[in-house]
Amino acid sequence: MIEVTAVNKHFGDAHVLRDVNLEVAAGEVVVVVGPSGSGKSTLCRCLNRLETVTSGEVRIDGRPLPREGRELARLRSEVGMVFQSFNLFGHRTILDNVALGPIHVGKRDKARARADGLELLERVGIADQAGKYPAQLSGGQQQRAAIARALAMRPKVMLFDEPTSALDPEMVSEVLDVMVGLAADGMTMVVVTHEMGFARRAADRVVFMDSGQIVESGSPDEFFTDARSERARTFLAKVL
Ligand code: ATP
Ligand code: MG
Repeated sequence: MIEVTAVNKHFGDAHVLRDVNLEVAAGEVVVVVGPSGSGKSTLCRCLNRLETVTSGEVRIDGRPLPREGRELARLRSEVGMVFQSFNLFGHRTILDNVALGPIHVGKRDKARARADGLELLERVGIADQAGKYPAQLSGGQQQRAAIARALAMRPKVMLFDEPTSALDPEMVSEVLDVMVGLAADGMTMVVVTHEMGFARRAADRVVFMDSGQIVESGSPDEFFTDARSERARTFLAKVL
């Protein structure tokens, strides 16, 4: 579903992705961990062309990422992304936030898009908040709305970049539970997170990055009990 081949990324003189290779199969959940500045967000952003790669190639579903125009818009709808900050439209209701993409980008029937949107809000457990504005919701509810909004575009892949880092601790699990549900439903997911409990519970594979490189890639069991590199062991000693 996702193929990253020999990708390098430079920001000026900084070489932030170094010959990164990664394959994510359909239905697979890959959790990306690593120290701050190791390139996790940059890798994520290269997967939906929020960043361009300096060299190498990213393919989604067998196709190289489109450069611009309608093809790029289609890619963005096929690759849903959820960020640390929820990025909801503040002056729109929660249901509008979920339904507007399908209506305007997906050209779907309005009534249908709203009905589908309500169903998605149900799925993430906030159907009762549909008519409210983002500022009236808790952080956990806003993040679940952001997930529903991404899902409304019927993505083939979902990218999560530290989706719970901005949340109060008591709201973390309500968001992680939604993500675990998505994983169980077979969604292809790439998740950058410091939530090692989530990695153990939901990951098919854990990828450890350091200094722009993928240093280790293995099952959660292998990674947590038997990390090979010194760098991964040092990292684990800090986060576990
Ligand atoms: P964190 O855990 O703190 O989110 P990260 O692993 O996501 O870190 P990135 O945000 O991908 O790390 O950053 C990797 C490196 O690239 C860092 O050194 C960062 O300063 C640099 N970088 C990221 N975005 C830019 C940019 N737009 N311009 C210049 N440098 C950047
Ligand atoms: Mg980051």
